[in-house]
Amino acid sequence: MQKERKLVIAGNWKMNKTVAEALDLVQGLKRELAPVKEVDIVVCPPFTALGEVSKQVLDSNIRLGAQNMSEQNGGAYTGEISAGMLKEFSVRYVILGHSERRQFQAESDALVAKKALAAHTAALKPIVCVGETLAEREAGQTEEVVGRQLRGSLAGLNKEQMQETILAYEPVWAIGTGRNATPEQAQEVHAFIRRTLAAIFDGTVAKRVRIQYGGSVKPGNSRELMSQADVDGALVGGASLEVRSFSDIIKNTI
Ligand code: PEP
Repeated sequence: MQKERKLVIAGNWKMNKTVAEALDLVQGLKRELAPVKEVDIVVCPPFTALGEVSKQVLDSNIRLGAQNMSEQNGGAYTGEISAGMLKEFSVRYVILGHSERRQFQAESDALVAKKALAAHTAALKPIVCVGETLAEREAGQTEEVVGRQLRGSLAGLNKEQMQETILAYEPVWAIGTGRNATPEQAQEVHAFIRRTLAAIFDGTVAKRVRIQYGGSVKPGNSRELMSQADVDGALVGGASLEVRSFSDIIKNTI
């Protein structure tokens, strides 16, 4: 598939996989995906598996991501993990503002913005998530909600930092529900996100930023979703937990 921007497909393992299970999964992915050069491949294990998975992916085309990090560099923040700690394991990407953290940990756009800035300061690439709930979509508020999340979560980033940021459009109603956005619905919001980036930053930045779609991506829908002009990859939850499904999602886009 010819794309304007290189696809980036990331697996968000969430709170799944012991270290032994994580090793099984990453070893299988290495075997299946070794020849793939067309797509940037990222896996985001839980913190407890980062060390072991990191050793496995060192000599591979798979890059490591984390699922969250603190906006602080260190100190008395019980239970938190800093960007510097992630760097110790050669982590390159970090998911920020996932809807589950916005919902269950009450993360705000302002906090996500601080985390994004801290990630860039440590040379980590943030994957900043935005997306509306079903009620918001049905009330015709998708653009209002996503626009507000973008302006709030990206506040303070300069143009260079924005270009190195990945966005993930994840409609909340499509996450873990088996009900994906149609390719047309995804494209419509991705195009809106790109227009918003042009307004906040500039047209060059907007053209360069990669925007992933997330929400029930599977082997059967990845090609059609990724073939949309402004869909530059995927953030995959459930289907990233098995070697077969995650590698087929990636291979089907090539
Ligand atoms: C996610 O949590 O980022 C996600 C997209 O989950 P799923 O693929 O399971 O819908």
